Amino acid sequence: MIRNLVVLLFFVFSLYAQSDFKVLKRADAYMKTGSKSDQFRAYNDYKNIYLRSLMNSDDKLRKSSLEGIVKSGKKLHIDVKNYEDELETMASKKNKTTNTTTSSKQSKIKIKLSHKLKNISWLDSDQLVLRFDRKLRKNQINYFTLYDSKKHRFRYVFDIHASMLTKSQTLRKDGINRIKIAQYNPSTLRLVIENNEKVKVNFKIKSSKLIIKMSSTSKKAKKYIPNISNKPYTPKRTDRGKVIVIDAGHGGKDPGAVGYKGYREKVVVYKVAKHLKNILKKRGYKVYMTRDRDTFIKLSNRTEYANKKKADIFVSIHANAVEKNARYAKGVECYFLSPSRSKRAEEVAEQENSADMSDMNKYAKQSFLKFLNHAKTIASHKLAIDLQRGMLGSLNKHYKGVKDGGVREGPFWVLVGAQMPAVLVEVGFITHPTEARRLVNDNYRKKMAEGLADGIERYFANN
Ligand SMILES: [Zn+2]
Repeated sequence: MIRNLVVLLFFVFSLYAQSDFKVLKRADAYMKTGSKSDQFRAYNDYKNIYLRSLMNSDDKLRKSSLEGIVKSGKKLHIDVKNYEDELETMASKKNKTTNTTTSSKQSKIKIKLSHKLKNISWLDSDQLVLRFDRKLRKNQINYFTLYDSKKHRFRYVFDIHASMLTKSQTLRKDGINRIKIAQYNPSTLRLVIENNEKVKVNFKIKSSKLIIKMSSTSKKAKKYIPNISNKPYTPKRTDRGKVIVIDAGHGGKDPGAVGYKGYREKVVVYKVAKHLKNILKKRGYKVYMTRDRDTFIKLSNRTEYANKKKADIFVSIHANAVEKNARYAKGVECYFLSPSRSKRAEEVAEQENSADMSDMNKYAKQSFLKFLNHAKTIASHKLAIDLQRGMLGSLNKHYKGVKDGGVREGPFWVLVGAQMPAVLVEVGFITHPTEARRLVNDNYRKKMAEGLADGIERYFANN
């Protein structure tokens, strides 16, 4: 169940739900009480805000939080010299550059604020049309190509000085492996066309539209998959010998979510995991389970186990639950761990690494960098998409009304620390009457596991 895990959120994300300002005010209030434990709370709050300020490039917030860290840290006799130095550097930089950079900063902000991606559509099936909310300029678009000789993959990249309102999107086109568009950094939108073979790419700007024409040079185009629910992926029998660690959520004294008619998450997810293991083994993979019976395992030990086994992927299986409106909440979902602004997050890691981390627990320290690894986040995202598609493809063939809850980013502690692509699958809501009845049905669980296995094979085939 999501809620159980959210309690254990990595501290960076623990603040996502609250406004930075509120937390700052709370920290200031803690400082005033004079009690030692409150001062420690304040210190932690300031550090969290500091990380957030780095991720959001918010210098004002960064300054306030640094001041707080220094003030509270000193009271607690924590070495805060690095933070002090940073505060000083910040102050001197500001004095030097205030006048000279104002104009260039303003022009950048102008573009950033003015151009938003409105929608994406196909024209004549080979032209992708990106419509923005206002006229585009040529110098807003940077087009370049990359060739990954190791993977034998061509990448055609458009960096557009603009923003999009939604999260990243993956588009499908006949004959092209992948087209992805995402906010690369706060001011750049990146569209990547990726293919095993060369693609002819042309583009033109037409007022507020960017029209990208692409045609695959390959004669035999890859099969187009128009609807994930009708056309499940038929796996190719390749890439054997991969190692998969399956993690059945909860166990032992931790039942996970308890739902409709008292059905327990730990039982349901174990059964799905077990089926998945058997199917994958039959298909020739090396498969391990973090638990092979009803036993309690600490979250951090689960990914540690996967690391030890040198797993290629880690799949944690859970069931969802809600407290209210149980009749409405349903659907299957896949989650991957993401720092959401990866480039900034890398800087966060770098900076935080050099600073005092003595009050973070050992595990958090270890996993911090791995957790913010951009390439792994992308791989996990891909795996999540394939798992989601696989599940829906298999279930929709046999059951009515299976809801696609989508692929999402989530701060799941159980995924933190995994050195390989890691996904958390929510197999459905154990609180929903229909879904719960299906989840305790072994045939349903088998179909679910088959879909997940297809998704895993698809992932290995493409990556
Ligand atoms: Zn769970």
